[in-house]
Amino acid sequence: MGTEAHVLLRSYGPAESGQAEADLQFLRDAGVRAELRPSDAYPAAAEALALWAVAADAAAGFQALQEAPAADDGTLAWSGPRPLACPQCGSTAVLPRPPYGLVPLLAGLAVAGLGAWSDQGTLALAGLAAGGAAGWWLQTRRPPCRCRTCGAAFRHPLP
Ligand SMILES: [Zn+2]
Repeated sequence: MGTEAHVLLRSYGPAESGQAEADLQFLRDAGVRAELRPSDAYPAAAEALALWAVAADAAAGFQALQEAPAADDGTLAWSGPRPLACPQCGSTAVLPRPPYGLVPLLAGLAVAGLGAWSDQGTLALAGLAAGGAAGWWLQTRRPPCRCRTCGAAFRHPLP
């Protein structure tokens, strides 16, 4: 820490270190000079943290925190102990991508249904196989998550 004055932006409980790291990364992505320090608010907890910003950046930091994604605000596809973070930049502003593979799978099922309805067993089997293969290919090729900060696409790290 230099000689610049710092302003406390937010305190975190012992179980909120993931959110603290996410907020810190979010602020740094926003150009706010911030750092995490042990928090005085939870003296008994070794892992409690507080987020401080350089005084000159404090107003921008408060503003940015209003827009920072919370781990439980629904922007993430699940609520795990750790927020989903971008492997490229560490941002937690990550959107799960829609299951594109369902589109050809449903199209294949429609063709299969048509084939079955018109008594064309070969067409039904072909539609089913093509839809399934295309759906599988899309699902494995299309990363299901995209970072809103740097645009990196990556696969869901959790099962
Ligand atoms: Zn990113």
